[in-house]
Amino acid sequence: MENIAENLEKVKARIRKACELSGRPISSVRLVAVSKLHPVELVAEAASAGQLLFGENYVQELTEKAGKIETKVNWHFIGHLQSNKVRFLPGIVSMIHTVDRLTLAQEIDRQWREKQADVCNLLVQVNVSGETTKSGTTTAEALELVRQIATLQHVKVCGLMTMPPFFDDPELARPYFRELRLLAEKIRNEEIPNVDMTELSMGMSGDFEVAIKEGATLVRVGTAIFGER
Ligand SMILES: *Cc1c(COP(=O)(O)O)cnc(C)c1O
Repeated sequence: MENIAENLEKVKARIRKACELSGRPISSVRLVAVSKLHPVELVAEAASAGQLLFGENYVQELTEKAGKIETKVNWHFIGHLQSNKVRFLPGIVSMIHTVDRLTLAQEIDRQWREKQADVCNLLVQVNVSGETTKSGTTTAEALELVRQIATLQHVKVCGLMTMPPFFDDPELARPYFRELRLLAEKIRNEEIPNVDMTELSMGMSGDFEVAIKEGATLVRVGTAIFGER
C-alpha cells in the first residue's frame, strides 16, 4: 500500500531542495500529480493531502475520474491526443501539454469555441531527442508551429513540453531539458502576440530534480506519488 500523503511530502521536499540548489523560488515550480491507471480513490486521497493539480493521459479515464471526484481539482491532459477525442475536454481540463501539430490545435480551438469554454491553455510538445517512438514536433519546426497556433482565438500557447529518452542516470537527460529551455527562450524573443512561453513542462519521477535545475515550471510526477502502475 502506498502512503500517498507521505509520498507527496517526499516529492515536495525533493522539489524544494532542487529549487534551493538552483536559486529558484519554490513557487516557480508546480507539481502535476500523474494519476493515470490509478483509481480515482487515490486521486481523492492526494486531494485531501492538499494536491489539487493532476495529469491524465487517456481521455476516457480522465472524464470518468472527473465525473466521480467530489473535491474541486485541476486537470491537465498530458497524453497523446487524437483530434476526435478533443470534444470531451472543454470544461474539464485547464491545460493540454501535448499539442504537436496544427490540426490538433485547430480542433482544440473549434471545440473550446463551440462549448463556449474559456481559452484553452496549451503547451507545444517538442521531440528534442528525435526518437521515432516519441510524439512531438521537431526542434526546428517548433517556432513555426507556435506562430501558426498563435493565430487561433480560443487557445493560448503558454510554453513547451518534452519527454527525454529514458536513462538510469538522470544527469544524462539534462541536455534535452536544456535544449527545451533554450528553444523556449528563442521563441520568447520573437515576441509573438498571444504567446507566453513561460511554462516548461519537463521532468518525471526519475529526473525532475535535473529538470528543475534546467528551468522546469511544471513537473509531471506519477510513480513517486502513486507507486508503480
Ligand atoms: C506517465 C507519465 C508521466 C509520469 O511518469 P512517472 O515516471 O510515473 O513519474 C509523466 N509524463 C507523461 C507524459 C507520462 O505519460
